[in-house]
Amino acid sequence: MLNVGKIEEGFVLDHIKAGQALTIYHHLGLDKMDCTVAMIMHARSGKMGCKDILKVECDINKLDMDVLAVIDTGITVNVIKDGEIVEKKDLTLPKEIKGVFACKNPRCITSIEQELPHVFFLADEKKGLYRCRYCEEKFDKRQLD
Ligand SMILES: [Zn+2]
Repeated sequence: MLNVGKIEEGFVLDHIKAGQALTIYHHLGLDKMDCTVAMIMHARSGKMGCKDILKVECDINKLDMDVLAVIDTGITVNVIKDGEIVEKKDLTLPKEIKGVFACKNPRCITSIEQELPHVFFLADEKKGLYRCRYCEEKFDKRQLD
């Protein structure tokens, strides 16, 4: 497999559905952070056929992984410290997700009051369903693709 250098501290996000690496990059806010990111797209995978991988070199305490679970709980999160995998993190759905996804309902108060934070709460844990705190509009995962 393609090797994009070793990282000293950070995360390797594996088993990302092919084509979703860029979505994850944006929703984790990596474009606004001072860290090195390697994106491997359409890597061959025995299990998945094709997958994306993200390598992020950063302070491991600075990155909020909650948003990842909302995108796809199937992603494997490897935590790297001193160049070694020290932990494999399980992704669990956060109860609430704030300021990451925008409510698409044009009548929602967040569409009118631009400075209000967008907040979604976990309405159904089994289905991984989120609703807008203000108007209860469903969060549609298709808007991530
Ligand atoms: Zn709303």
